[in-house]
Amino acid sequence: MNSPKDPREVAAARQRNLEQMLNKQKSDGEGLPPVNADSEESVGEINPATGRPFPKINPALQKQIQATIEQAQNIKPLTTEIVEPEGPSVPIADAPYTPRKDVDTAIAELPSRYAFYDFKELYVGKFRVPHFAKLHESYVTKSYAYLLEAVSDVLSTSHPAYQDKPLAFYLTVPDFYWVLYFLRLNQIKTHLTHRTRCQGIEHNLQVKRGEKAPETLDIVHNVTRSQINTKYLGAAPDMSKYEFDTFRCRVPLMLDVMEAMAHPEATGSVDFMYLCRVASLIQIKDDPDASLAKRLKFIETLEFDDLNAVSQFEKDATRYGPEEFVQVTCTECGHQQRSKVSLDARSFLPLQ
Ligand SMILES: [Zn+2]
Repeated sequence: MNSPKDPREVAAARQRNLEQMLNKQKSDGEGLPPVNADSEESVGEINPATGRPFPKINPALQKQIQATIEQAQNIKPLTTEIVEPEGPSVPIADAPYTPRKDVDTAIAELPSRYAFYDFKELYVGKFRVPHFAKLHESYVTKSYAYLLEAVSDVLSTSHPAYQDKPLAFYLTVPDFYWVLYFLRLNQIKTHLTHRTRCQGIEHNLQVKRGEKAPETLDIVHNVTRSQINTKYLGAAPDMSKYEFDTFRCRVPLMLDVMEAMAHPEATGSVDFMYLCRVASLIQIKDDPDASLAKRLKFIETLEFDDLNAVSQFEKDATRYGPEEFVQVTCTECGHQQRSKVSLDARSFLPLQ
């Protein structure tokens, strides 16, 4: 397998090339988009080497350089990122946890940093044969229920209220996906296969002209651990700002996803999915444990301002989690492209 070059090196090399090119063009005085003539006087920053202001670079050229650098920097191996809510926020206290001997691993840090849970630690046991049976069932029937059960079976926490609860159902959607990654990478140890199509223009034209078979456009890529980017919540949305007369906002849990999928009207239609999204983001004050079906009924009374607040909350409360980008190369034409891997939880832990 080819190990990709460190993208920072690639970015630095490209930057050097561009700077060299730029300097050469400057000294040649040709082939260069015109530099603003009065630039030397108009720019404030002083070049310490010459004691004179830096010349202003043609904006088009600067844009081109910046775009190239950004493109090269886009792919980062195993990166983490901290995201801050745009709305009012509160700091998240570090989640304390006590190592336990009877489980294999403690997850000290979820992407949400436990900001939305009563429990503040999560332990992961090992998948054993009965769990693999459930995973297999999930894969064959394409049902989330078996997957959530299998994952719940290996999760535990010391919080007394969650001793008998299937914990995976009480995780937020991004945290659940992150746990899936964790399990997959640490226990299943298989790569995820990403299938996509070459977007190289010349290659596509050749197929269109009948010079190459359409199948040559198919790209199959093995996703590795190094390509996962995790966004961690830097601060939590200030929940006191999302308290209203009859309801408050809350984060959608896997439980909501399950309820939405089991709902008799769950046809995948866009408007129903929209309603489910809104319903999963609220808690009715008079009925805090209301089912999603009840909340779907309740949200019919919401007005535009309410929806606006719910929408702002959604932005701030779901921006964290794992993201997978892969850089794929077409084996036929060598075209390189970047694509985001979309996960289907039901086939996430396949047993072939
Ligand atoms: Zn190609």
